[in-house]
Amino acid sequence: MIRERAYPVEAWHVRETRLDVDVLAQAESVFALGNGHIGMRGNLDEGEPHGLPGTYLNSFYELRPLPYAEAGYGFPESGQTVVNVTNGKPIRLLVDDEPFDVRYGDLEAHTRILDLRAGTLDRVVQWRSPAGRAVKVHSTRLVSFTQRSIAAIRYEVEAVDEPLRLIVQSELVANEELPGQSRDPRVAAVLERPLQIEERLTDKDRAQLIHRTKRSGLRVGAAMAHEISGPPRTNINTEAHDDWARTTIACVLKPGEKLVVVKLLAYGWSSRRSLPAIRDQVSAALAAAEFSGWDGLVREQREYLDTFWDAADVRVEGDSEVQQAVRFGLFHVLQAGARAELRPIAAKGLTGPGYDGHVFWDTEMFALPVLTYTQPVAVAHALRWRHATLEMARDRAKQLGLRGAAFPWRTIRGQECSGYWPAGTAGFHVNAGIADAVRRYVQATGDDDFEREIGLELLVETARLWHSLGHHDRHGKFHIDGVTGPDEYTAVKNDNVYTNLMAQRNMLVAADCVNRHSERAWRLGVDDEETAAWRDAAANMHIPYDDELGVHPQVEGFTRYQEWDFDNTPPEDYPLLLNYPYFDLYRRQVVKQSDLVLAMHWCGDAFTDEQKLRNFDYYERRTVRDSSLSACTQAVVAAEVGYLELAHDYLGEAALMDLHDIHNNTREGLHIAALAGAWLGLVAGFGGMRDHEDHLTFAPRLPARISRLEFALMWRGKRLRVDVRQHEVSYSLRDDGDADASIDLSHFGEPITVTCEKEMRMPIPRLEPHRRQPRQPAGRAPARRPAPDTRRRPSEDR
Ligand code: BGC
Repeated sequence: MIRERAYPVEAWHVRETRLDVDVLAQAESVFALGNGHIGMRGNLDEGEPHGLPGTYLNSFYELRPLPYAEAGYGFPESGQTVVNVTNGKPIRLLVDDEPFDVRYGDLEAHTRILDLRAGTLDRVVQWRSPAGRAVKVHSTRLVSFTQRSIAAIRYEVEAVDEPLRLIVQSELVANEELPGQSRDPRVAAVLERPLQIEERLTDKDRAQLIHRTKRSGLRVGAAMAHEISGPPRTNINTEAHDDWARTTIACVLKPGEKLVVVKLLAYGWSSRRSLPAIRDQVSAALAAAEFSGWDGLVREQREYLDTFWDAADVRVEGDSEVQQAVRFGLFHVLQAGARAELRPIAAKGLTGPGYDGHVFWDTEMFALPVLTYTQPVAVAHALRWRHATLEMARDRAKQLGLRGAAFPWRTIRGQECSGYWPAGTAGFHVNAGIADAVRRYVQATGDDDFEREIGLELLVETARLWHSLGHHDRHGKFHIDGVTGPDEYTAVKNDNVYTNLMAQRNMLVAADCVNRHSERAWRLGVDDEETAAWRDAAANMHIPYDDELGVHPQVEGFTRYQEWDFDNTPPEDYPLLLNYPYFDLYRRQVVKQSDLVLAMHWCGDAFTDEQKLRNFDYYERRTVRDSSLSACTQAVVAAEVGYLELAHDYLGEAALMDLHDIHNNTREGLHIAALAGAWLGLVAGFGGMRDHEDHLTFAPRLPARISRLEFALMWRGKRLRVDVRQHEVSYSLRDDGDADASIDLSHFGEPITVTCEKEMRMPIPRLEPHRRQPRQPAGRAPARRPAPDTRRRPSEDR
């Protein structure tokens, strides 16, 4: 965990003012750059020291065996692991006779700045070599949002007080040695030298390496080119070998003189394209980047982000730490998905090897709800990717004796990669999550073509799955037995409320969609009988309820399980999964992450206000938050039931998950779901935004320490702005060329229409404070948010 505040609070930057070699790997994740296609960890330019070197290409993986001590029918035989591809970041520097290395000599200044508006990572260093020679290095790195195969680095060296002989070595390195594996099963399997050379090319100041993976047979090309400006006598040459290529630049700099190297990097990969095709693709991408030049790339990056922030920014007054964190989170969610284009958004994005680079339900239930209202095009791409894997999901369903499609619990390419059934395929709810993401996207954008071409089939195949997975009992009630809900400490149980409600909605939405696209649905083999069967199952869905306690058991019978002895569980035993047998976790009332509470967020229309409060209190006492996905949901529902200060605390936890390394594993990559959760905690929590119906509903309420919250949502091509204060809220619509546009929404249940002409100011009904506060398991309460900012808001151009 990063204990002292590592990054000062600033509105638009994440700044590291001194290098702490002990938490290098965490900082590499925080400073990772990406565009959804390429991901680069924030490794130091000179490559060493490092925590975890990492360069990733979305969906570029290697196969690895999944050995079982006792195999069973339907267990996946092969796993997929993200590959650390050819590293184009290294730029090494020799200052007179000494390699520039922060571990030696004097590091007089070292600052790194992630600029959330510029989309760049800056590093400014002043270093004195053991022999007393001083240099200043200023590097700026970007992974381009506008040219998806391109990354670039501007590297500037200056002699400080005496002439220096400098050698700069700019490299491409394949098959880097990675640090050893930890005992934590969530950590990626280390792959030994996965890349085999196919071709190497050099020319003056450029080089290209093409490799292929041994088992998955994927081909990757990486190329670099340099623009160099230095003193008149500057020597340049380039060489290439099987696993590395290097451009060497030699010069002598007088004090005050600078050497500037712009390194352009291009990447391409394919499972199908030939070697010449990859070679050409990478060269072409490089040519396009050279055409734009460094200044052009920087300008395009800024323009892209200006457009994004214009639509997506959230402003928070009164908690500048959360303000910074929500922007940091939005930036990383964007980086994870912006240019994924028919590829998935993994749990860690492309920021680290954690979870083997797999994508889970996190995408549809955490990242996509944010992107739906801020960058909807990325949602369409992510769901098109799911659609492209339908054949594999159908095969999986068939293998399991089910109809429709069973999407994988975890995967890169589309096949199930989970070797552990209870916290793997049994988490069938991932399918309903995909369906709900389709519903939300179509509802928010009105994208009919998408619904017809992509959405319909996803809805139909998931509805089929639910219908075949569940069954009617002799009273006609529909049950879904033997599944795992979001809480992985309660596994393979009957009638998980979250799963049942989501499946119910999945079947109803599918039946409605079939009505709208009957001809196409007919071609998918859907007839009236089938949709009637879905509606019938949905209408009869069993939702367990404990009448005696007046709460919903998260699965049938949950409320009579043995209680967990929280008082005698020492703090070092968390996360429990690393210290207790699953057997014990599964039969007790201990909750890893919001499950019933999650149901109350996404399917809130299925609960009364009173039930929500009682359920929240009940699960609060049993939820340990061993998953980073939990806090944001607890924030959303705590806000709804009126525990505003507790909601604020949970929001802080979700938002600061990686900036403070709260789960002690940021080194493996960022928690994209939790980062998305910062937005959810603010917009759905304090903004009270829900999208259950075909219009947006709001019930905003701020905690005492937040004086103002402003956010914007894209709704059917229009931009709705919501500006919440303590006692009133204003809704307004931006005139983006259509002055007659309007949006119908509801404010605390009252229908209102917002037009471009005037903002609607509405009072916020007073909330009677709760007399009692809910309790958490011993030692598991979230950290309290500090007192309101007394200092001025961080400077920002409002
Ligand atoms: C959580 C899952 C999640 C996965 C990847 C696990 O710890 O329990 O719900 O999908 O992490 O983020």
